[in-house]
Amino acid sequence: MKNPTIPRLDLPVRSIYCIGRNYAEHAKEMNSKVPSEPLIFIKPLSSVSILPWMINLPVEEHDIHYEAEMVVAIGMEGKNIPEDLALGHVAGYGIGIDFTARDLQSAAKKAGQPWALSKGMDNFAPLGLFAPADKVPDPQNLRLTLTKNGELCQDGNTADMIFPVNMLISYLSRHISLYPGDLIFTGTPSGVGSVQKEDELEARLGDDLLLNLIVE
Ligand code: MG
Repeated sequence: MKNPTIPRLDLPVRSIYCIGRNYAEHAKEMNSKVPSEPLIFIKPLSSVSILPWMINLPVEEHDIHYEAEMVVAIGMEGKNIPEDLALGHVAGYGIGIDFTARDLQSAAKKAGQPWALSKGMDNFAPLGLFAPADKVPDPQNLRLTLTKNGELCQDGNTADMIFPVNMLISYLSRHISLYPGDLIFTGTPSGVGSVQKEDELEARLGDDLLLNLIVE
């Protein structure tokens, strides 16, 4: 498979980091505690699909949930990045969905096992449009919505992130070197739910960053 390229940024995707429970209302709907430090997990490169129209998901075998998220694309290498310089490492911001096999994730949580399978299957990280960082004056004030078959299911704002982007980059880079093409899925607002075959999802960040797809 050709290495997927981040839309409009012309960067090949490298590692995919994701943040769990980064919106208090979503932590509440999952009956989870708000974390005191960022909760980090990883998806494999094979879970990425770029601007998909039809997307194949194992909805007959698993309870697959959508989670609309702002995705940060790293543009400059760094280690131990201080918070006040962190946004300078961002190439751009975009919209993505963190698909989750909720049945497998719940079982893994109960057993104290990792989330790799429940978060990492093929097509579990679709990416929509991105905007270069210099076109996004305030990444912490963007409306983030998801509609399913025209019905508004998620309606949040990146202002409500528990750990904002500069803290996430600083925290991650203390433990893991970041490189151009790395992605950070920054967590989802409340309103997550299941998808079925033929559902149409539209996730939107700000006014014009869109991801529109139909489940098959
Ligand atoms: Mg998520």
